[in-house]
Amino acid sequence: MKKNKVELSKITTYRFGGECKSFYSINSPNQIEEVLSQSINDEIFVLGKGSNIAFSDDDYPGTIVKNEIEFIKLIDDKGSINVGAGTYLPDLSRFLYEQELTGGEFLLGIPGTVGGAIKMNAGCYGYEIGNYVTSVICYDLKLKKVIELQSDKIRFKYRESSNLENLIILSAKLKFDFSEKQVIKKIMSEMNDLRKKSQPSAIYNAGSVFKNPEGHYAAELIEKAGLKGYEIDKVSVSLKHANFFVAKKGASAKSLFKLVQHVKNIVEDKYGVQLKEEIIFIGKFS
Ligand SMILES: Cc1cc2nc3c(=O)[nH]c(=O)nc-3n(C[C@H](O)[C@H](O)[C@H](O)COP(=O)(O)OP(=O)(O)OC[C@H]3O[C@@H](n4cnc5c(N)ncnc54)[C@H](O)[C@@H]3O)c2cc1C
Repeated sequence: MKKNKVELSKITTYRFGGECKSFYSINSPNQIEEVLSQSINDEIFVLGKGSNIAFSDDDYPGTIVKNEIEFIKLIDDKGSINVGAGTYLPDLSRFLYEQELTGGEFLLGIPGTVGGAIKMNAGCYGYEIGNYVTSVICYDLKLKKVIELQSDKIRFKYRESSNLENLIILSAKLKFDFSEKQVIKKIMSEMNDLRKKSQPSAIYNAGSVFKNPEGHYAAELIEKAGLKGYEIDKVSVSLKHANFFVAKKGASAKSLFKLVQHVKNIVEDKYGVQLKEEIIFIGKFS
């Protein structure tokens, strides 16, 4: 198992971050104990595709484990599957389509891994991954062993989960219903069209910046506050979707952080609503 030096800006969708000197990519659960034996005193951060993360511009001092455990297997003929936590969500969505299983169409447009999606309870258009999880197999960093956690112990909420702290998700069992391929394909293409119409593409971002506060849409509040297009040093509120903040090449994470604080302040002053981040800032920002 080799420790690597990695520029974090090369491996996240926002392209932010300094260098991590203790970076491991794992493609098998057996490799975890080897990583831990080499980084005994380090705090471990688990990374998927980095599509919901903004690393600070500084170097990262701890150990990062990138989960690349990728596989998808049918468990039975009733729609249950076992999937590696490093599996790319669009690949899972396409696999489900091939197997005539419905429920995973929304995953086609989310550029993360199964592990990241479970941790974040990723979702859109009324779907959430937590509704399909039956159990997760994890490495427990405190107990130092592999455990299986049933879904009723995870407590999925809107864009978050609890009880997964200090766990590296290795794989998950999910259950879907059967449908016809043409029905599944139609849902996939409708969701794809919706995304294309409403969201910026091919620009550095990490999806929705804020969660929708109860009774509101974050994008609507930001737009009403007149902030669409507002820019701080190469990071701006998208003109297409006000809850996407897009970065230009060479932008810094500090600019994104400043923009997020600015938007939060203005929305709170104008509407008395406190926006909470969905994206995760890692490292020092002040
Ligand atoms: C263009 C775009 C569109 C998006 N659209 C959506 C959307 O519609 N809905 C939505 O919910 N999100 C969306 N996102 C955000 C993001 O893709 C999801 O949150 C995704 O699930 C994150 O997965 P990841 O593998 O990239 O996780 P990362 O960003 O790498 O990590 C996210 C969190 O999960 C943890 N984590 C990752 N892997 C593991 C693991 N194996 N074990 C334990 N913890 C782990 C990390 O430590 C971190 O806390 C979008 C992002 C982009 C760039």
